[in-house]
Amino acid sequence: MAFAVTMDVLRHIARRAIDAVLPPQCISCSALVDTPGALCADCFNGFTFITAPMCRVCGVPLQAAGAAELICGACLKERPEFNCARAVFVYDTASKGVVLKFKHGDRTDAAAHLARWMLRAGEEVLSDCDVIVPVPLHRWRLLWRSYNQAALLANALGRLAQKPVIADGLRRMRATPSQGRLDRVARRRNVGRAFAAQQAAAFAGKKVLLIDDVLTTGATADACARALLAAGARRIDVLVLARVPGPAG
Ligand SMILES: [Zn+2]
Ligand SMILES: [Zn+2]
Repeated sequence: MAFAVTMDVLRHIARRAIDAVLPPQCISCSALVDTPGALCADCFNGFTFITAPMCRVCGVPLQAAGAAELICGACLKERPEFNCARAVFVYDTASKGVVLKFKHGDRTDAAAHLARWMLRAGEEVLSDCDVIVPVPLHRWRLLWRSYNQAALLANALGRLAQKPVIADGLRRMRATPSQGRLDRVARRRNVGRAFAAQQAAAFAGKKVLLIDDVLTTGATADACARALLAAGARRIDVLVLARVPGPAG
């Protein structure tokens, strides 16, 4: 583990040194761009940005047009603990590279740029939130990776939206096994009591906006929402960078 941390730090320093002397590169394909942390036009055009029609609860993109009050099948069957979730773009082959590079620390410089997208896509959930909280990493993962990508996004977004951020507002209670191959029910069980709110007084009666990089089934967001509600929060909304297009069933 010590080796991994050292490599991570070295890679970070090397990245900073390279950034200082080279012109800015696209956060996905490394083509030259004008603004540090930006996407090139080609990559941008490949992204599927999420716009209406979408489920008004979980924000999953839907096919049907016209009706304003659309709710997807999964939310009809079982409402999530959170009030409303929104995402900037669909997690697919075009966007995966950006999400993974950001997650693994190769392009943490993208945080400010990505947060600007979140500011636009999340207008509805940001406007009246009282406080912003990131989904936490488990301690050993944090140690290994040396930073939490959701906290980077939350801090950048808090600065842009001028909202307070409680970076350590949630804590993971135990390491959850990797979620990759689990279905929605199994994921919910897996993360059921995985989180606890710290500084409960800071959440009492508040409208909390939960931030993560990717939303898959919503089970993690749901478990975080449950912990925040148990701490006395009034309402939980969710804003993420990317979401799996569904169906979330
Ligand atoms: Zn590109
Ligand atoms: Zn839904």
